[in-house]
Amino acid sequence: MESYKFIVNPVAGGGKAKAMMPKIKEYFRNAGADFDIYQTRGPCDAIEAASRSAEEGFDIVVAVGGDGTLNEVLNGLVGTKSVLAVIHGGKGNDFATAVHMPREPEKACRDLLRAETKDIDLGKVLDRYFINTVGVGLDAAVALRVNRGVRPFTGVSAYIYAFFETLLSYKVIDMEIDLGNIKLKMSPFLVAVGIGQAYGGGMKVLPDAIQDDGLFDICVFNNMNRLAMAYHFPKVFSGKLKDIEQAGMYRAREVKLKLSEVSPLHLEGEILFGDRMHFTLEPGGMTVICGSAPN
Ligand SMILES: [Mg+2]
Repeated sequence: MESYKFIVNPVAGGGKAKAMMPKIKEYFRNAGADFDIYQTRGPCDAIEAASRSAEEGFDIVVAVGGDGTLNEVLNGLVGTKSVLAVIHGGKGNDFATAVHMPREPEKACRDLLRAETKDIDLGKVLDRYFINTVGVGLDAAVALRVNRGVRPFTGVSAYIYAFFETLLSYKVIDMEIDLGNIKLKMSPFLVAVGIGQAYGGGMKVLPDAIQDDGLFDICVFNNMNRLAMAYHFPKVFSGKLKDIEQAGMYRAREVKLKLSEVSPLHLEGEILFGDRMHFTLEPGGMTVICGSAPN
């Protein structure tokens, strides 16, 4: 029988993750499952907790929180034998959606106990691992704005508000983009690099991305008139933004970005800074529990 460690971020989703724990506990207790719960105490604590859980021999380590909590747990588990799992518990749950985890806690518990796994590609940039989607440019500036808080807005509306506010003042950065066989020199609005399809709470910026094809999907979105951008932007939710002329879609095993100035990169809830960003990919580098929710 598998053993489970839940790593719960009590502030994720404004307390949503913490509030769902009694139900999860009850479900696992009734199932007679072997489990333990740890509540995180602050930023980066989930990395430590996940690595400790792996050392203690827990088979499955479950991040209960949003994409930020998930990314910390992932970084603590890389190189260990423990399997990664996630429960929708935050504002942004793009990875939980990407691995088909149901939103209802009971259904999520059922899928966790079923323990069906998949080996997903593992990305790395600026010494940090990621398993879904990251971005540089306008989207990172938006994420930075969201992180500072855009009250009274939360969730997707916070991203949308921050997007329009950032769009008006955003200054594009000169970049050299090296995709191996393709080299671009331009000043794009944004560059998204991903294993999964969406970020920012359902923005499908890489709608054709496949999690285990050994390749990154890349969207290079060229500079364009801001009014036109504001008009086209909502198409990102249906995955149709890639169809407009300014969006260049690529696939590559490795990506190198050379930026004219130090800029933010948003990586699953984390904001990192750099002017040289080298993305590498380890095919099937992380074993993850997959749910049964239709997408
Ligand atoms: Mg891929």
